[in-house]
Amino acid sequence: MQKITVLSGGMGGAKFLQGLLHGIASGTLPGVASDAEVTVVANTADDIWVHGLKVCPDLDTVMYTLGEGIDPERGWGRREETWSAKDELAAYGVEPTWFGLGDRDLATHLVRTQMLDAGYPLSDVTAALCRRWQPGVRLLPMTDDRVETHVAVADADSPSGRRVMHFQEYWIRLRASVPAETLVFVGLDDATPGPGVIDAITDADLVVLPPSNPVVSVGTILGVPRVREALGATRAPVVGLSPIVGGTHVRGMAEQMLTAIGVEVSAAGVGLHYGARSAGGVLDGWLVDEADAEQVGRLTDAGLACVAVPLMMTSPDATAAMAAAAVSLVTPVR
Ligand code: GDP
Ligand code: CA
Repeated sequence: MQKITVLSGGMGGAKFLQGLLHGIASGTLPGVASDAEVTVVANTADDIWVHGLKVCPDLDTVMYTLGEGIDPERGWGRREETWSAKDELAAYGVEPTWFGLGDRDLATHLVRTQMLDAGYPLSDVTAALCRRWQPGVRLLPMTDDRVETHVAVADADSPSGRRVMHFQEYWIRLRASVPAETLVFVGLDDATPGPGVIDAITDADLVVLPPSNPVVSVGTILGVPRVREALGATRAPVVGLSPIVGGTHVRGMAEQMLTAIGVEVSAAGVGLHYGARSAGGVLDGWLVDEADAEQVGRLTDAGLACVAVPLMMTSPDATAAMAAAAVSLVTPVR
């Protein structure tokens, strides 16, 4: 197995990719070559313009994590970060004050914004940024077009009774603490897959849906026109790992997002939401955590290969073992 394609969000996806690369390098993934190439199709629907700068949280989390520039405690932004520019902007009273833009991180956004202004597509800009960070994967934005997830929440002060905001505002300012009533993926239906995205799925030997947010990370990638069709048509097996363990997300706000789209918040709920390829869905195999072992039967009944294994990404070795289980689940024993 030479070519692995992963459809990734930010923190969950990046951590999985770290373990996957570790497993490839250490030769612990059954049937996977030690020089196998990993392509990452990353979600860009979290992207936001802040203070005139284009910020791409999921692309940057993957790039910084794999390039060893990430702040490991926060899971986003640069390590050894300082916040002078943010403090200065706040002193001017400029909104938004809730968005964290570190001084080191700002350089990335300045380079990206200048290149976009000069006419380069986001995919070229991402490749240019990766020349510094050498993430060890080919990192592809899902689209070069502007796509934004917006969230509607109840708001008694508004004449319509609701307020719609950018996903980042819901997540960072509101901390996802109020129910999301509706999600709107602005621009998604009209987006064109980024260069190389469809080929990365079609030509892969294995496609992986990591434990990323099934709605606002993987869900948006699947919503890019032609991506679902490519997953249906690829000869590669498609395997996913549940981001829901024991009935809730491990980190983040997947629970709120699944509730907003009416999907059961469980490992089985997410697996059945993605669906078996044999029944028009996108998956051949689905890994659930040991805590959810009693749900395996529901998934196999729906046509999915499924086993329960430990799914907590507590170390690169533990995560590599998850990747090995994912590979084994969908490839014939040799
Ligand atoms: P984001 O863009 O930063 O929100 O990151 P992703 O979309 O890639 O991943 C977020 C998802 O990762 C959340 O739904 C979490 O439940 C999941 N997650 C985080 N850590 C773990 C872990 O150790 N194990 C599993 N199974 N899921 C995890
Ligand atoms: Ca994200």
